[in-house]
Amino acid sequence: MSIQIHPIKAFNDNYIWTLINKNNKQAIVIDPGQAEPVAEYMQEHSLELTSIWTTHHHHDHIGGVMELQEYFPMTHIVAHSEHGVEEDQTIKDGGSVSAWGCSAQIWDVSGHTATHVAYVLDIDGQKHCFCGDTLFSAGCGRVFTGTIEQLYDSFKRLNGLPADTLLYPAHEYTANNLRFGLSIEPDNVAMQQALAQAEEKTAAGIPTLPVTLAHEREVNVFLRVNEPSVIAGVEAKNMSVDSDKPLTVFAALRELKDNF
Ligand SMILES: [Zn+2]
Repeated sequence: MSIQIHPIKAFNDNYIWTLINKNNKQAIVIDPGQAEPVAEYMQEHSLELTSIWTTHHHHDHIGGVMELQEYFPMTHIVAHSEHGVEEDQTIKDGGSVSAWGCSAQIWDVSGHTATHVAYVLDIDGQKHCFCGDTLFSAGCGRVFTGTIEQLYDSFKRLNGLPADTLLYPAHEYTANNLRFGLSIEPDNVAMQQALAQAEEKTAAGIPTLPVTLAHEREVNVFLRVNEPSVIAGVEAKNMSVDSDKPLTVFAALRELKDNF
């Protein structure tokens, strides 16, 4: 199966990840916060939008759904019942959805919101994870209607994917997240290199995404809560943590990032 994956830019820094089947010219979009850039892309490439998948209820992820349904009346909406759209297929953890015969597993990765899901799509044995606002390259989502415990569990779950899994977050926050990461781990060479690359790409308008989980394990402090260098970096900011309880390190990092 040849499925291409393309980011459509929306708002300032959102990516609407688009699955494209070149054989039949059909497309699926994930989290269309805006309709116009999607409709334009479909027209420009003579694609038919057949399905919309949502990860969570925030406006910058669902804002374009209704308008896209008007442009493409046959579009099938896949969403959790709490995502604020009129879904045709209701999803929950453990379920799956199909992309032209390829299966995407639905994972509950709450924390940013209480009903946030990720889509783990398997294309010929390679996993592609659309993780919305749960995990960003080198960072993590803020806690809104979920809890820090849920977010921590979601990170542990995502970290259990194969190392070569490609991660597709919904925002271009990479460079800023790396600057935060370096404030915790100033000697992390992988982070320094990633920041130089991210700054170059961002200046050229090129997405820094997707990223592999293997890369994230080196540069994302929220996946590195057991590393002595991260614990020391958090403690150096006068945050008290229990190094035997990684959740306390994770929560301290989230609090530091909120004020970064
Ligand atoms: Zn959000």
